[in-house]
Amino acid sequence: MTVTLLDNFKLPITADMVLRGQGAEPAVICARRPQLADVAETALQKGLPLLAPLAITRRMSVVSVRHQRIDLEGGFLTGELPAQKLAVAREVFVVLCTIGIALERYASEVYRYDPALGLALDSLGSVAVDALAAEVCRRIADEAQALGLQTTFPISPGLVGWELGVGQRQIFSLLKPDPGLIRLEYSGQMIPLKSTSLVIGWGEDVDHTSSTCDYCAVRFNCRYQPSLTSS
Ligand code: SF4
Repeated sequence: MTVTLLDNFKLPITADMVLRGQGAEPAVICARRPQLADVAETALQKGLPLLAPLAITRRMSVVSVRHQRIDLEGGFLTGELPAQKLAVAREVFVVLCTIGIALERYASEVYRYDPALGLALDSLGSVAVDALAAEVCRRIADEAQALGLQTTFPISPGLVGWELGVGQRQIFSLLKPDPGLIRLEYSGQMIPLKSTSLVIGWGEDVDHTSSTCDYCAVRFNCRYQPSLTSS
């Protein structure tokens, strides 16, 4: 099996992104509580050097789909959502992303004496792993486009139609990552915490119009959906 490790990432993260990750609107914060904007800047300065972005990927051909099971060349996935979205995919990319353990260790240490900075560092970690996953998906989409193919949205365990524990175990089973880099706890929690898992399919006729938000359990109460924030 061919598992690829990618670590050549430069993540374009700004202080505004750190503030948004904390649920704050940067323009409002800068006007009303400029000290929080300074904290976000400090989090960037101290936290960025601690990031160790890494993606582990495996590209697998789809062999067959029956009911809720997708047989891949060298493994399988089960779940209503992946079966539905990957049924007409030609190949599937199985992906784990992590930013490493250093930032979250530092954030929890800092939180004890400077909670505001600790929270900003935690937000930086969340923003960084999201940016990393987006970059991996962008690279896959670019490759697909060059081949005249479409890609699905990133399908993660925990979305509606893919039970979290089932999906996590299957992704870890397919990738068998070095536990020193990323591991799955019995509880279903990934370590480092700032990690994410997903699969993405490509093909001529895959659904390329749906989004992760369409299958997110909190979509009816979430104010961060791109369709709501872009207006
Ligand atoms: S609905 Fe909100 S929380 Fe869910 S994926 Fe979309 S932006 Fe993220």
